[in-house]
Amino acid sequence: MNNTIELDDVEMGAEEAKRRSAVAHCRFCQAPLRHTFVDLGMSPLCESYLTAEQLNRMEAFYPLHVMVCQECYLVQLGDYVSPEHIFTEYAYFSSYSDSWLKHSWGYVDMISQRLALGGRSLVVELASNDGYLLQYFVQKGIPALGVEPAGNVAKVAEEKGVPTLIEFFGRQTARKMVAVGQAADLVIGNNVLAQVPDLNDFVGGIRILLKPGGVATLEFPHLERLMAENQYDTIYHEHFSYFSLIAVEKIFAAHGLVLFDADEIPTHGGSIRIYVRHVEDCSKPISPAVTSLRERELTIGLDRAETYATFSEQVMESKRALLELLIRVRRERKRVVGYGAPGKGNTLLNYCGIRTDLLEFTVDRNPYKHGRFLPGTHIPIYPPERIGSCRPDYILILPWNLKDEIVVQLAYTREWGAKFIVPIPVARVLD
Ligand SMILES: [Zn+2]
Repeated sequence: MNNTIELDDVEMGAEEAKRRSAVAHCRFCQAPLRHTFVDLGMSPLCESYLTAEQLNRMEAFYPLHVMVCQECYLVQLGDYVSPEHIFTEYAYFSSYSDSWLKHSWGYVDMISQRLALGGRSLVVELASNDGYLLQYFVQKGIPALGVEPAGNVAKVAEEKGVPTLIEFFGRQTARKMVAVGQAADLVIGNNVLAQVPDLNDFVGGIRILLKPGGVATLEFPHLERLMAENQYDTIYHEHFSYFSLIAVEKIFAAHGLVLFDADEIPTHGGSIRIYVRHVEDCSKPISPAVTSLRERELTIGLDRAETYATFSEQVMESKRALLELLIRVRRERKRVVGYGAPGKGNTLLNYCGIRTDLLEFTVDRNPYKHGRFLPGTHIPIYPPERIGSCRPDYILILPWNLKDEIVVQLAYTREWGAKFIVPIPVARVLD
């Protein structure tokens, strides 16, 4: 079980070479992409954790160069890696975060009441992962179906009693589902929109799958927060797009879908949950939440190219501050280890050039990662108990979005006076 790219896979076909050498075009509106948002250099695929035997082999690195479309303001990565390489053996299991499960349970409770879902409804989740969310609908007796391209995670969902189609979602899959009576009252897409290579096919598929009076809800990290808080480490090859509300509205409108409500939620450093309906369904008026969010984005200038041009320098300064802090404490002969081995950690460590010289090892609760090494930086990953036995002076929290939960879990480290470091927006030691 690994998704490290072998050399054979790197020798791309003629079609692939042509696709990559051409000027990149916007994955939504097809306009040529000419403006850099941020260039994080070359990075390995962030979920390709290495075994000890792989450490002495060549590793594939791809550009993490993010562009912004000057027509629709969709912030996006170029087509550097084909999606088949990324998602088929995805190591991420949603169920490993307590706060994420709590968030999911709260959502299921809220939405099943709001839409009056029951035994005759059908809920479909796109990129349903290991059934972390749909399991709560199943517990309520609401029929649920997952669509998940990664076979290994889909299998875990099935074991939880969550029926799961192993497919990439798009128009074709949606048509097949509707043909066998699987049109949905509720379509859910949490943190999947960013990972969709063909946005038009995916959103077009939602229109097909959704019953005439149905609702789709999608959650995605908010670009406004990414920019305001230097969350450059949420940029990785698995995330093709980074959304503002104004860009998302345009994309859904192009497919006959309307955003009629929006919630701002704290997950993944600040996300938006949008509520979507068919343009023909006038029973659901557009809420003031949508209007005010749109106005806020226009006020900060998300519809102007110059607003995006300032981000690069912010990111470079954040890198300098983190390195300065780590170099200082290492020179004082302090021991520094990491907590977590999330995808975002790999972007951060590779971009900043942090290896075992600055971070001895990291730990993670996911047993799949134990005994493996972070891609690119080759930092070893151990079970969390390692922190107790080695008693480090500093713990760098890589999944900073779970910082509060992690500080509670690691309260015992206060016993020997360990301190926590969060890397962004600007590196700092927690009090
Ligand atoms: Zn565009």
